[in-house]
Amino acid sequence: MIVVQKYGGSSVADTDRIKRVAQRVAAARRGGHDVVVVVSAMGKTTDSLLRQASEISVIPPGRELDMLLTAGERISMALLAMAMHELGYTARSLTGSQAGIITDAVHGKARIIDVTPGRIRQGLDEGHVVIVAGFQGVSRDSKDVTTLGRGGSDTTAVALAAALDAGVCEIYTDVDGVYTADPRIVPGARKLARVSHEEMLELAAGGAKVLQVRSVEYARNHGVAVHVRSSFSYSEGTWVDNGDDMEQAMISGVAHDTGEGKLVIRGVPDKPGVAARVFTDLARANVNIDMIVQNVSSDGTTDISFTLPLADGPRAQLLLEALLPEIGAEEITFDTDVAKVSLIGAGMKTHPGVAATMFAALSDAGVNIEMISTSTIRISVVIRADAVAPAVQAVHDAFGLAEPDVAGVGGRVSGASGRGRRVTEAQA
Ligand code: ADP
Ligand code: ASP
Ligand code: MG
Repeated sequence: MIVVQKYGGSSVADTDRIKRVAQRVAAARRGGHDVVVVVSAMGKTTDSLLRQASEISVIPPGRELDMLLTAGERISMALLAMAMHELGYTARSLTGSQAGIITDAVHGKARIIDVTPGRIRQGLDEGHVVIVAGFQGVSRDSKDVTTLGRGGSDTTAVALAAALDAGVCEIYTDVDGVYTADPRIVPGARKLARVSHEEMLELAAGGAKVLQVRSVEYARNHGVAVHVRSSFSYSEGTWVDNGDDMEQAMISGVAHDTGEGKLVIRGVPDKPGVAARVFTDLARANVNIDMIVQNVSSDGTTDISFTLPLADGPRAQLLLEALLPEIGAEEITFDTDVAKVSLIGAGMKTHPGVAATMFAALSDAGVNIEMISTSTIRISVVIRADAVAPAVQAVHDAFGLAEPDVAGVGGRVSGASGRGRRVTEAQA
């Protein structure tokens, strides 16, 4: 069986940890498996490289930024290969390009469009442990090196697991699974034994960075079973799978994201075509838009607000400043002190009152809501960034997510084991 193991930045933060990872890989190898390892950059390497780039340029050329950032993962892969050799195993490290990760040409957030793992298979056939640099690929068109967006090594691992038809894709990180909220913010958060692709997708989109959104999309589309677990223990983690035969969870968790900003375009003339123009241009510039709110107009003008990744802020601002005269809007402001808090649960679509309970919990905690958006299994709000910890805690408490045996709010939900709140017959 082929096993794909991905080790995140904290798992390879220094050379001692790399040696420990090598021990784990060796154990899998001794278990008779063919092992493909995907590594992230050591510790905060990617952040340091980004900082260095920003000291030189506000908007660095995407091609060069990607060239810079991919260096981080190359350091880890080579050091891990050396550590394997020290343990008496042969290993071959490969860059994303060498490993056959083919992407589109969008620097900084390239999508994987094909995987041609010939060199990986060859390495495995020759008896090597194959180590692949995560988070990177090569553009089919431009032949330039690309990166897959922050957290992209998760997607490398899932894509390789799919292409190699691996038995399992293990994501090793610094927490022992997916929790009902970020355990760094909510100490009482509970580990989920299983979570469906759909719920995990919303958790990840809501900012639970334990898995990159695209890795979950990829896993869902290709039927890859993902096991999120700790590289610091041997305990069973969380299985992310298609959710068949799962009991319906009412609420699976609370996610938060402080990595987005709120951009407001004021005094937009209230006439057809303006929103289309703004968002078409932003889409062309590959700016990811999240929540959009347009106010009711007064005096023939309105405000359009939306959230977007902080990293896309400068580019979006530059683009919109240039567009202002044409659309006849007054001004643009970019607010970086916001946070998004999302409540996720597949059961909420059949349960009225979930939004009301969430908003009441935020109100009781003195948290002001600035924007709201919903999907069938998610409710998201934008709040001030400094309110994020109390907000997440309050919402987590309101739905009784910490304790499996404690009845949830209003008695609408009952005890659960292993996953989020389940819907019992009495409630349904
Ligand atoms: P890695 O470097 O291994 O890829 P990340 O930092 O990307 O690790 O992701 C792991 C982190 O995700 C954890 O340390 C945790 O703080 C955070 N996190 C956020 N939400 C959740 C959640 N619901 N469950 C588990 N971890 C979460
Ligand atoms: N090193 C990259 C990052 O920090 C990719 C990853 O860790 O998955 O975002
Ligand atoms: Mg990560």
